[in-house]
Amino acid sequence: MINGDSEQLLSEIGEIYRDTFARFDPERRPPQVHVRFYPYIGINHTIRVRSGQVFVRIAEICHDMPMVAQHGLADILVRKLLGKRASRRTGEPYEEYVRSLEIRERADHSRRTRGRKVVTGTKGEVYDLDEIFDSLNFWYFKSSVKKPTLTWSPRKSFHILGHHDSTHDTISISRSLDSTIVPRYVVEYVLFHEMLHIVHPAVHHNGRRYHHTVTFRRDERRFPHYHEAERWITYNVGKLRPAAKRK
Ligand SMILES: [Zn+2]
Repeated sequence: MINGDSEQLLSEIGEIYRDTFARFDPERRPPQVHVRFYPYIGINHTIRVRSGQVFVRIAEICHDMPMVAQHGLADILVRKLLGKRASRRTGEPYEEYVRSLEIRERADHSRRTRGRKVVTGTKGEVYDLDEIFDSLNFWYFKSSVKKPTLTWSPRKSFHILGHHDSTHDTISISRSLDSTIVPRYVVEYVLFHEMLHIVHPAVHHNGRRYHHTVTFRRDERRFPHYHEAERWITYNVGKLRPAAKRK
């Protein structure tokens, strides 16, 4: 989580860019912005202007970038386009996402080489993933989802909140969410999203893998606290970070 290729998501990201343009130039009507995920090799993004419209291509590998990091990336790209100096503060959520992505890529690689996975158990200090899984399965899936290996992530990631690994049939949820500050519906929502990856396996099309299909996104919106949970994540996940790491 939280990613996708759906039109809805792309237009939400487009709105972020329009807001970013508006922030830099409030007098002017923000341009039309077209956003696409693009299968660049590695972490690479582009922004261009053509006939007064803005075209943004975000590296496919960043398909699961959370909205807070999308805001950071929009800030970086729009500044670049407008010839403004980069801001460390506004770009930080994106930079952090990239660092975590690189760590994850390396972890994926070494996991593949060694063929094992770190599992730390379902019982956290506040939430029990096993129990939440059972209740989500009962209420939203008629108990039809076969239980994968559930685990809290060994590290507290603030930008990769959940991950479904189909190879190892494992769902891991970021330990940062195992906190009294985090409402239960947020943990439920992240786990619900990962459960949908079991229900809707990735679709291959023209050599690309689509994890968040239209039906996936439609089902995702059936979660009763969808909007609250998205909003909570956008505005609060940063606050979970230890004070020492906050700049
Ligand atoms: Zn996902």
